[in-house]
Amino acid sequence: MRLSYSSLDTYQSCALKYKYREIDRLPEEKSKEAVFGTLIHSTMKFIHEPGLIQPSVEQAIDYFGKHWNGDLFVNEMEERAAFVQGVEMIQRYYEDNRIAEANPIALESRFAIEIGTEEAGKHVIAGVIDRIDRTHDGYEIIDYKTTKKMPSQDKIDNDLQLSIYLRAFLERYPKEWERLDTITVSLYFLKHGVKLSSMRTKEQLLALDETFLEIIRSIEAGKFAPTLSPLCDWCSFQKICPLWKHKFKENPKEAIGEAEAGSMIEEFLHLRNEMAAEKKRLAELQEKIIEYMEQEGVERLFGSTGIIGRSIRTSYVYDETKLKALLSPLGEWENVVKIDGAALKTVLEALPEAVQKQTEECREKKESLSLSVKAVKDSISD
Ligand code: SF4
Repeated sequence: MRLSYSSLDTYQSCALKYKYREIDRLPEEKSKEAVFGTLIHSTMKFIHEPGLIQPSVEQAIDYFGKHWNGDLFVNEMEERAAFVQGVEMIQRYYEDNRIAEANPIALESRFAIEIGTEEAGKHVIAGVIDRIDRTHDGYEIIDYKTTKKMPSQDKIDNDLQLSIYLRAFLERYPKEWERLDTITVSLYFLKHGVKLSSMRTKEQLLALDETFLEIIRSIEAGKFAPTLSPLCDWCSFQKICPLWKHKFKENPKEAIGEAEAGSMIEEFLHLRNEMAAEKKRLAELQEKIIEYMEQEGVERLFGSTGIIGRSIRTSYVYDETKLKALLSPLGEWENVVKIDGAALKTVLEALPEAVQKQTEECREKKESLSLSVKAVKDSISD
């Protein structure tokens, strides 16, 4: 199988979107964000293209302006705001960097690396590295981002894209495997003028194959479940996606008619909001009533429909080791211990990938349906 890194990235963010795009090859509307990102990337290439003299900030802005395409913007104001944002990114880039001192050895460099084995099947992952610089003691691999959201340092340290870029670099320069501590991988967030950098160990890079093979196995097994995320706001497939289809539905044919469904949805949302408000009010009242009981020195309050009493709720914190030693021989320990899934998730995120995988083998999947509610925003921005 031959895959681009970006398609694997799509699969990880939403497997169904991957299917629509890569397997069904459904047409997609170009987004203005994607067009803007492509132009900023080519401007960065223009800035660092090898030559006797690097372009000035004015020349870079001129390049940006000449290649600008405003077709996808809904109105002049939106287009103007995006154009100004691009110009500001370029200006800030020049303020923060000494362009002439950078030493790029590759710009928008294509790669294709092989993963897997003859027996289990070989696969090719292809992509494009924005920039590779020679630094005073090694190299720096840089990927530009035009997104507003910046990840945490922890995410950068485990970022799959940077790892695969470094693997591709090492295919080209295998001797550098011995000097990994001199190679930096960075994501440059142009909107903020912030570069977040990290390094990789040999173990991390070798573990990559398994991560990718796992994704490929899921694709081959036909696992294409949708994943609801903020990225849905930019997805061209909302109209056919099962998670959004209802929003665009035109001819309902189900036993529950559209009018009934509409009032059902409204009533559900209304009751849920009321419950939340009542819960809040109950907590406030409880606090006040306890205060009043203390003020009056009474233990019970009499109302027209009931009596409110107060009592002390006692809870205990047990010594886990002692309790386990006591209950285990009686075969009762398992009956009192319940694993906290949320706490386990937090702990696992900080543990090595091998341990994370082992815990996956210890679990059994159980599914049940529940309803969640998300407030509807008036407008969307990145
Ligand atoms: S709308 Fe969201 S869930 Fe549906 S395919 Fe697109 S990204 Fe996936």
